[in-house]
Amino acid sequence: MDHESIGPILLGAEKIQKRVRELGNQITRDFMGKSLHLIGILKGASLFHSDLVRAIKLELSLDFIAVGSYGNRTNSSGEVRILKDLDESIKEKDVILVEDIVDTGLTLHYLLQNLSARDPSSLKTVTLLNKPSRRKIEVPVEYIGFDIPDKFVVGYGLDYAQKYRNLEDIRILQK
Ligand code: IMP
Repeated sequence: MDHESIGPILLGAEKIQKRVRELGNQITRDFMGKSLHLIGILKGASLFHSDLVRAIKLELSLDFIAVGSYGNRTNSSGEVRILKDLDESIKEKDVILVEDIVDTGLTLHYLLQNLSARDPSSLKTVTLLNKPSRRKIEVPVEYIGFDIPDKFVVGYGLDYAQKYRNLEDIRILQK
């Protein structure tokens, strides 16, 4: 399948990489002198997480968590469950949660509640994409790559039915 038929490009690879470097620089400045613990949310944020950690010029460690929703992807029910928990404790660590996209906010709301109960020194969130018009619950997001319109997007880690995660660009899925 050629990529054009998936849908038009919303964010090209170069634009994404430039923004990831900017986010990395900003986080580096904000946490200067500290060591960080970056938690990637599987699977969607895996590509963003791996590029972002290389753009942060601080001592840091990595972990991953996988969550699933009981609803379907395009209509999140808000019931979230942990499919794979963290490997390490986050107690007294400066934690940044790395998300691919904040849509309704329900996944992030659940994760922030769950993780803050584990006593990190600090807990912040970075998301590559943000769909503010879809929000069902207010969630704090300290670092945002791009605000995007209410369209279903794929590529750079984001999938539709587990496909298209490997695209370098982010495309609007035409169904
Ligand atoms: P929320 O709980 O509604 O904020 O949804 C968050 C999750 O839904 C993200 O981590 C994605 O996995 C998925 N999601 C939301 N919008 C999109 C999209 O446009 N493309 C692909 N996945 C999406």
